[in-house]
Amino acid sequence: MDLLVASSNPGKVREYQTLLAEVPLRLVSLREVGLAEMQVEEDGDTLEANASLKAQAYARASSLPALADDTGLFVDALDGAPGIYPARYGGPSLTMAQRRQKLLHELGNTPDAQRTARFVCVIAVAHHDHLETVRGVCEGRIAQVEDGGREGFGYDAVFIPQGYAIPWSQVPVEEKNRISHRGQAARQIIPVLQRLVTSA
Ligand code: IMP
Repeated sequence: MDLLVASSNPGKVREYQTLLAEVPLRLVSLREVGLAEMQVEEDGDTLEANASLKAQAYARASSLPALADDTGLFVDALDGAPGIYPARYGGPSLTMAQRRQKLLHELGNTPDAQRTARFVCVIAVAHHDHLETVRGVCEGRIAQVEDGGREGFGYDAVFIPQGYAIPWSQVPVEEKNRISHRGQAARQIIPVLQRLVTSA
């Protein structure tokens, strides 16, 4: 049985292959089903709404069960900014490096104890008219300075997970998968996918 991973990011399909390795499903990309060009407007006001919009739209278009995710970054001292659209923080013209710099600038010299933040990942799986969502959370804080050595992905160079003294850009990927918002959400979606396989 195939599961469509509804993301335009090719790295994500590989990541889910690892995270969902124990489920007997073949993960296929949008490109493989000819939907790489399809756009879905993400205009919901929650992560659940946006992940569900994507999963349902791609499930309908492909007639396959589809998995979509949506991630937010919430910084307490900034009233929850960047929020549910971290890739758009600071406006469309910024690079990811500039978004990280903006975040550090907004926090200024806020002390560590008040730099608490969390990544939240919602995974939605849609199949016919059935929809399920799960939510994974990773607590942490925003670093005082960016990790100059390694950039990592997105905000990896400025996010220090709880219990660590190093940013995600320095945490080995298998370890990151164990504690990350996406890893935690993926573990919760496994029983949902197993039910999908047994009911097929
Ligand atoms: P998406 O919803 O998974 O596309 O994530 C939205 C944005 O959140 C990404 O473009 C990244 O900037 C940021 N992001 C998501 N997950 C991570 C992560 O694990 N580390 C750092 N940044 C992340």
